[in-house]
Amino acid sequence: LLETFAGIIASALERTSLADEARDARLRVETEQLRNALLSSVSHDFRTPLGVVTGATSALLDEETPVDDSTRRELLQTAHEEALRLSRLVRDLLDMTRLEAGALKVKTGPLSIEELVGSALARTSDRLAGRDVRTNVPEDLLAFCDSALVEQVLINLLENATKYSPPGSPIEIAAKAEGDVVTIEVSDRGPGIEAAYAERVFEKFYRVHEGEGGGVGLGLTICRGIVEAHGGTIGVRSRSAGGATFHFTLPRAPASSLGEVQGKAS
Ligand code: ADP
Repeated sequence: LLETFAGIIASALERTSLADEARDARLRVETEQLRNALLSSVSHDFRTPLGVVTGATSALLDEETPVDDSTRRELLQTAHEEALRLSRLVRDLLDMTRLEAGALKVKTGPLSIEELVGSALARTSDRLAGRDVRTNVPEDLLAFCDSALVEQVLINLLENATKYSPPGSPIEIAAKAEGDVVTIEVSDRGPGIEAAYAERVFEKFYRVHEGEGGGVGLGLTICRGIVEAHGGTIGVRSRSAGGATFHFTLPRAPASSLGEVQGKAS
């Protein structure tokens, strides 16, 4: 698995470096260095959870030193969490590969923001367990967008809000219409993001907070790719009370258009 993804990244970067070659030889050397740095970072990101899963399952399988019920449960829980983390890494790498290959197909239609938020929340319910999630989304708010892709943006932002804020602290989701765009915000009570990093966090593989629970630094790059493919913009600001507010825009659809489209389809 690791080799497959190392291969995907290497070939994506290979294409980049070939294009660079024509333009600038110096850039090619820098790209080579970047590739080595990224490969070693991605390899590390895979090895750590794989090591934990292997260690936990070996302990469970070891008949000579049987474990009691509560240790068994703990080991299974750890293996499960790390396996989920690995699958998120795989998802991010695949999404990124698609974005870079220009293979992102955006199928827009007038969709209810309230429903999109509801289904993103349902899909992150495991991770949000125990959190007070406050939503403030008008029920008649519609945007022209692709449901699977916008859900992916919301899921990435919600996952980050849980990863980077204290367990049990509240998360807020708000949406409002502003002229011909819809603005959606996801806020948390974590450390926030210093203004100096506010642009950089959207760059590929860029991470401010290394360590526990983090991914490879692709989640926000994927969000930006998806939002821009819809003609919107994405950004982050720190809240005065502490924490980060990520905000993005989508083209607004008139409140009447949902009925029209459904009417035509039926
Ligand atoms: P990662 O996979 O590391 O979470 P992302 O692209 O999603 O990558 O985020 C990039 C970096 O931005 C993260 O490593 C983290 O340092 C920072 N970040 C993202 N979301 C938040 C947040 N809600 N609060 C504070 N920092 C955040």
